[in-house]
Amino acid sequence: MNAPVNETLIRDVIQEVLGRLGGTAIPAACPAPAASPPAAPAASPASGRPVNGKPAASARTACRGVYGIFQDANEACAAAEEAFGQLREKGVAGRRKVVEIVKELCWSKAREWGRLEMEETKIGRLDHKIDKLLGQRAIPGVEFLHPFGMSGDHGITMEEYTPFGVIGAVTPSTHSIPTIASNIISMVAAGNAVVFNAHPGAATCAATAVRAFNEAIHRDLGIENLACLIHPPTLDSFNALTKNEFVRLLCVTGGPGVVKAAMASGKRAICAGPGNPPVLVDGTGSLERAAQCVIAGGAYDNNLLCIGEKEVFVLEPVFDAFLAALEKNGAFRLNDAQVERLTQAAFLRPKGQGAGPSHPVLNRDLVGRDPEVLARVAGATIPAGTQLLFAETPAEHLFVEEEQMMPFVPVVRVKTVEEGIAEAKKAEHNYKHSAMIHTIDVTRMTAMARALDTALFIKNGSCVAGLGDGGEGYSNFSIATTTGEGIANPRTFCRVRRCVMVDNLRIY
Ligand code: NAD
Repeated sequence: MNAPVNETLIRDVIQEVLGRLGGTAIPAACPAPAASPPAAPAASPASGRPVNGKPAASARTACRGVYGIFQDANEACAAAEEAFGQLREKGVAGRRKVVEIVKELCWSKAREWGRLEMEETKIGRLDHKIDKLLGQRAIPGVEFLHPFGMSGDHGITMEEYTPFGVIGAVTPSTHSIPTIASNIISMVAAGNAVVFNAHPGAATCAATAVRAFNEAIHRDLGIENLACLIHPPTLDSFNALTKNEFVRLLCVTGGPGVVKAAMASGKRAICAGPGNPPVLVDGTGSLERAAQCVIAGGAYDNNLLCIGEKEVFVLEPVFDAFLAALEKNGAFRLNDAQVERLTQAAFLRPKGQGAGPSHPVLNRDLVGRDPEVLARVAGATIPAGTQLLFAETPAEHLFVEEEQMMPFVPVVRVKTVEEGIAEAKKAEHNYKHSAMIHTIDVTRMTAMARALDTALFIKNGSCVAGLGDGGEGYSNFSIATTTGEGIANPRTFCRVRRCVMVDNLRIY
């Protein structure tokens, strides 16, 4: 009787044959391969790829992914575990090289990949998608890992940053390739490998980038699967990641659902969760500048940034002047009827699950869409090139309460700074994510900082200043708000190891 022929067996055979011919097979569900043919492989045993022209002698895993793209989460994790070991052999210089490769590819492919992501997700703005890839150069790498030395009568002690191993990472639809790239930079700089479960609506562009990263890393270092991606990603593949023995740490970037799932998984999780960043304007500083900052941050990528200005509280005496400054700087004001129409369309009320009114649900069709689209829904005609819509609303308004990710910013009138801080705190929902203030009064800055206690608090700048664009500091697309690590950097993905030399090596 013949043995049953299954898909894995067929792929194994094809892989083997192509391996002998020096080619590659693509898993069935993978995106079409990038135009460039794979370089002559120096081979990883896990890939089954030939070593010096011969088939790999022993494939420790049965993984059949190609350049990091895997259908099966467990195969991806096994391949990443092997790549982790290979990276260790390459030392710090190897990590530095990977960081350089990822930054360089993001720079040279920014337009192509920005367009791919825009076409797939259909949210945000192309110019900012490109900008986010160009900005990867500012993500810190190996140089960020300074050991901490202690020296005294009992000798010398060193605390060093060491890797976890394989990290399971989940990335959002709002910045798919940028988050993947900045995660790889931070995680590999720290010596780790990573397996991604991307957002299903932004996974194909992610696969293109991951494949290109692995091709280039393989060409230069002979490591093929340092950053793996499960394609297509599903809830099952997420669950498999959380259960896989090689995955030592999770890093999730997204909304409340994925944060909850990661924290319930039993694995240690770094959670870059949701935000709803408020702004307070008291009028002691320049209203003109405050308006420009709100427009710059609120309009960035059509307000997809988790740090983006989502609602503004303004002191009564300067309220009208602030709205005038928004208009003068190119934002468009909606009237009450238009806001009502937009709100009806932007928040849906799912029908009938028990008694009482259901909680409104964000209409994903309007998330990250252009101001022209929102204006049409609102029944307004706006000048071409308008970057942001705004309107006066009460504090109890869905656009204030919900993280809406649309280029429409509600502006709320408050009587006192205390009221403004209290309302800002309410709108922020204790996410402890981001907040902004425009004032020259340091006591007010301090009061708001203390009350909201957010990971990012920006004074007299737009939200992006918090990530080094117009302010000092480094950048990343994962801001670990829920679990408190702050803006991710290589140290976020390290264990701290202490090495003690007793009574020796100290000279005096
Ligand atoms: P999302 O929560 O819908 O999806 C994020 C990721 O989580 C996706 O890969 C998705 O497939 C996955 N996911 C969602 N629910 C899941 C579950 N129950 N189990 C397993 N995986 C699950 O978010 P989005 O719309 O893609 O991105 C926007 C959200 O992400 C906003 O809330 C924004 O504030 C947040 N965000 C936060 C940061 C940060 O650094 N803190 C950065 C970017 C985005």
